[in-house]
Amino acid sequence: MAFTEQYDVAVVGAGHAGCEAAMAAARMGLKTALITMNMDLIAQMSCNPAVGGVAKGHLVREVDALGGIMGEVADAVGIQFRLLNTSRGPAVWSPRAQCDKAQYRVKMREVLEGQPGLHIRQAEVVDLVLDEGPGTRDQGPEGREQGTGNREQEGKGQGVGSREQGVEERGRRQVVGLRLRDGRQLMAGATIITTGTFLNGLIHCGEERYPAGRSGEPASVLLGEALRRLGLRTCRLKTGTPPRLDGRTIKWHMFEEQPGDADPTPFSFRTKKIVQPQISCHIAFTTPETLRLIRENVHRSAMYSGQIEGVGPRYCPSIEDKIVKFPDKTQHQFFLEPEGLNTHEVYINGMSTSLPMEVQWRMVHSIPGLDEAELLRPGYAIEYDSVDATELDRSLQVKSMEGLYLAGQINGTSGYEEAACQGIMAGINAALWVKGEAPFTMDRTEGYTGILIDDLISKGTNEPYRMFTSRAEFRLHLRIDNADRRLTPYGRKLGLINDEAWAEYEQKQARMVALEKLLNIRKVDAEALNAADLGGLTAVAGLTWAQLLKRPEVTIEPVMRALAEDLRKEPVLAEFVDRHPDDAVARAAFRNEARAVETEIKFAGYLDQQKKSIEKLKAAEAVSIPEWLEYGAISGLSREMREKLERVRPQTIGQASRIPGVTPAALSLVHVSIRLQG
Ligand code: FAD
Repeated sequence: MAFTEQYDVAVVGAGHAGCEAAMAAARMGLKTALITMNMDLIAQMSCNPAVGGVAKGHLVREVDALGGIMGEVADAVGIQFRLLNTSRGPAVWSPRAQCDKAQYRVKMREVLEGQPGLHIRQAEVVDLVLDEGPGTRDQGPEGREQGTGNREQEGKGQGVGSREQGVEERGRRQVVGLRLRDGRQLMAGATIITTGTFLNGLIHCGEERYPAGRSGEPASVLLGEALRRLGLRTCRLKTGTPPRLDGRTIKWHMFEEQPGDADPTPFSFRTKKIVQPQISCHIAFTTPETLRLIRENVHRSAMYSGQIEGVGPRYCPSIEDKIVKFPDKTQHQFFLEPEGLNTHEVYINGMSTSLPMEVQWRMVHSIPGLDEAELLRPGYAIEYDSVDATELDRSLQVKSMEGLYLAGQINGTSGYEEAACQGIMAGINAALWVKGEAPFTMDRTEGYTGILIDDLISKGTNEPYRMFTSRAEFRLHLRIDNADRRLTPYGRKLGLINDEAWAEYEQKQARMVALEKLLNIRKVDAEALNAADLGGLTAVAGLTWAQLLKRPEVTIEPVMRALAEDLRKEPVLAEFVDRHPDDAVARAAFRNEARAVETEIKFAGYLDQQKKSIEKLKAAEAVSIPEWLEYGAISGLSREMREKLERVRPQTIGQASRIPGVTPAALSLVHVSIRLQG
């Protein structure tokens, strides 16, 4: 009998998805195991040492607003913060932070180890333990039936009985545990797999290739085979990373310096201080010689020699990709980004490559200022298996396998932030499932996380999926400044937001409501206008400050200066003017709060219009398609439509409408037959 441990939730892989998943499940009161190949590499940043960026920063804010940890960890180890896109509209402002890569791992592990109920284990998971029907379950050390966690012990909670009956009725199998390479068995009520690029990973560097999960770590081959045995559809994807340099061999004075923001904008709504010393990055460009070298050797790049079958990320292309696809461009920009405060290692952002090492060496040296640079690590590409996410439902549970959840790069995404937001959703849902409670899902109108999951489960992906603000239908609603208003009440209900954070959230909301009210009531007075350098404005008589703010040329900052005395009179608003004048984070936080109020006022008409469209979308989402619906029995539904719908088995009419190629006529047939077959 194998040595067996028993948990409520087991999470495989301590990458960016796994850490969020395990933390969420443990915070929701469940005994959670986080099993990973190497405990020293928890939350390893496989590629760039940075978190956030356009749309990715939105995802981090959403994870944080729900009660996740990525934002706080990045804030604690951030060495350069920038709020991107501030010259454009507020929908696309997004925070980004360069992080100390080694400290990110250390901090994440500290946070995980500090969480009661969370047990970290180092092991390779090689197989799943399945319950394929009565009498087939493995017996635990005490001869007790294993693998049902709280649900059987409690025998209560809505839906427990019906769901287990359902498993048998639908003939579904259930994952009840994991087998580890060292012979252990680990039983769990729910299992979340977050293995990133490790499933059958194959590294390519020029003509060389070898199995690996990422540089320096073994591939996960046996677990890959186990998932294939389950019959899940898989896909082969690839991604790549640039070489790393020794900063002591870079002539820094030859590059343009790019400092961070003077007042850093943290990711987390709960962060009070940025503690790390801040550094600069540097901007650089390729030369004609760099381009010539790449063109001459492109046939030796794993990507172009036909050696790689996997599809790469269109939006994070390799340098050879850029040169082939944009032959007329005479130079390409890249960034020199330090990997930490206690290392000389430098990441070359924008120079991802799978050219042979010798070509990489010459390519780097073709750039003035890098002509004597030493390469510490080569760039490489990695091919790996991902699971077709149309196999999943909205809670990220595998539709054909009860108790099994997938999150992160395994679902076809690329990026730490895309992984983290799936991780927290999978962790929450696995916990709810074990407790016998209804799943927590987010729709497209509530967050980028909802958009990402909806896109994946409705369309799948045949290239690494990355988040963009353009994927959102209602992006002015999905801003970084209101992620807490959109999601923190959910996080609180789920048990992920503690009392202190909730009290601060409520104070902030009260402050913003009070500010909006004041702006709507108080009439503009000429003296205050002059004092705020707004004296040039005309036809202001009788206007409120809110009406004035609707003018495109008026921003909130001078208005706040003009209203300083009024703000001081109301205790809830005084903080806008008086709090910590020497505290950069507080300054940024209050400025961003005031800007959020400005956005709500300035774009009120547009936001109201969008609200109407949101209601329409929600109405379509409210029409559920029952699991038992037989598409084959719908007369008039073409074979093509039937196949598309059967492949995804959408949960709502709204989701069905987003399956590529499904027509409005097919939708109305489905709609009618829900009533007929019901
Ligand atoms: P990972 O962070 O990969 O974590 C997976 C975890 O699972 C690891 O801890 C591993 O040890 C563990 N594990 C795997 N198999 C097992 C097993 N059988 N048993 C136990 N533990 C297991 N993203 C971008 O946005 N842009 C890029 O340009 C980019 N380039 C990349 C280049 C490379 C070479 C690589 C490797 C990744 C790149 N990424 C890039 C992707 C980014 O690293 C991932 O999207 C992100 O790390 C995914 O997070 P995850 O949690 O899904 O998986």
